[in-house]
This record gives sequence, structure tokens and C-alpha cells, in this order.
Amino acid sequence: MSIDYDCHLHSHFSGDSDTPPELMADRACALGLRGICFTEHLDLDAPDDGTPFLLDFDAYFEAMDALKMKYRGRLDIRAGMEFGIQPQHAMILKNLAARWPFDFLIASQHYVDGKDPYYPAYFSGRKERDCYEEYFHLELRSLERCTDYDTLGHMDYIVRYGPNQNREYAYNAYADCIDPILRRLIEHGKCLELNTGGLKYGLGEPNPSREILRRYRELGGELITIGSDAHVPEFLAYKFPAADEILKTAGFRYYTIFRERKAVQLPL
Ligand SMILES: [Zn+2]
Ligand SMILES: [Zn+2]
Repeated sequence: MSIDYDCHLHSHFSGDSDTPPELMADRACALGLRGICFTEHLDLDAPDDGTPFLLDFDAYFEAMDALKMKYRGRLDIRAGMEFGIQPQHAMILKNLAARWPFDFLIASQHYVDGKDPYYPAYFSGRKERDCYEEYFHLELRSLERCTDYDTLGHMDYIVRYGPNQNREYAYNAYADCIDPILRRLIEHGKCLELNTGGLKYGLGEPNPSREILRRYRELGGELITIGSDAHVPEFLAYKFPAADEILKTAGFRYYTIFRERKAVQLPL
């Protein structure tokens, strides 16, 4: 397998996974991966009636240290976080990044004004297009404020959940919202994530779509991170051969992994 690091996955340290981290590591070994980076959720503005996405940092890093020891020589294990960005959380992210020894930080826009697009109520009575635009505009505002991250996670995450998912969605129709985000990543030396979760959600596309990955490359973007967003072992490294093909077709020659927040390029 040419992509042999999965850099977006969750274990029971995330509010929406029951998987012990060891099971993820065992599965990674069985698949012949060289390494994995856990990226547990922290979302500070989860709606009151939804899943709480808090992270017990002491317990997490203690478990990660033990896991690194246990799998030494067999699997390269790294500890990261998927931080749910909001413009008002810039300082919190900066402080957390300084306080804890993360290998890798994913910035992901999950919630929009305290509402979770995962639930249909977010879209009810509104045009899908307005919802998608609102999401992209907020994502850009969040990135303008929250600057202490390594990659932008599942950039068009919202299309997983729209009433028509991505059937009425194309790069061209949203270029005005999408280009400023891509340009910002490039100007600030940040990565764009290819998240194979979109393929799991039946979009026929990763998040973001092939068109957006191509556009990022066309604008000069070169830095790609890759993750399955697995919450259970079965989805670890999901459709990585397809991701490899998509990236090569879009003109990428390498992907990026992080250790202690420092980037290393690996060939595709
Ligand atoms: Zn996410
Ligand atoms: Zn995730």
C-alpha cells in the first residue's frame, strides 16, 4: 500500500466512539500500516442535547504513551486532536497547542452557530444552498481566527448530511466560497486533508471532492494529509487505494504526516 499512515481516526477518547485504542492499533498492524495518528474530538460548542465532545487530556496522553511503548518497533503511533473550530475559540486552541504534546492538529468545522448539520433539523425550512454557503463562510472565518493547526479536516463535511448530499453540489457552484479557503491554506502553509469518510457516506467522493483537491493543486497547494476518520477498526485506512489514485490523478506526488507538529513528506 503506498499510503501507509492513517492520520485521522478516533477511539473511546472521543465522545462518539467506543473503540479501545488497542483495537485500532491491532487492526493497523493487520493491515500492514506503518503508522497511525489518533485524532480525538474536542468540540467546545456541542449543542446541549447532542453528544458531548470533550477530551480528558491527562488520560489520553497517558494511554498514548503506554500504547507507543507497547507497539514500539511494530507500529508508529502518534497522538493528535481534531479540534472543532469556531472563530471564538482561537485562544483556547492556541493554549491547548502550547500546553499538550500533540503530534498533529486537525481543524474541523463541525457546528454552525451552535447547531449540528449532522441532524436534519439544521436544514429544515431552508435552502440547501444557503446552508452550504453558511457553512463555508463560517469555516473561512474560523480559519482566519484559529491559526494553530496543521490541516483542515473534511473541508466540505456538510455535504455528507444535506438533503441532497452532493447531488446538487459542484465546485463551480460554490467557487466563491471555496477558493478563499484554499487560498488561505496555501498562503499560510497549511495542509488540506483528504478524508475518505465521504466515500463511506455514499458520496462517491472523498471530503473534499476530487474537483476541490484538483483546484487546491491548481492554485499551488501541495500539502495533503490523509485519514479515514474511522471510529471503529473496520474502517481504518478505508479506501486508501482509491485515495492514492485520486491524489495522483489530481497531480499530487506526496502526502504529509506530522510528528511533534513537524511535517514530513512521504511519496504516494
Ligand atoms: Zn470531523
Ligand atoms: Zn474525525
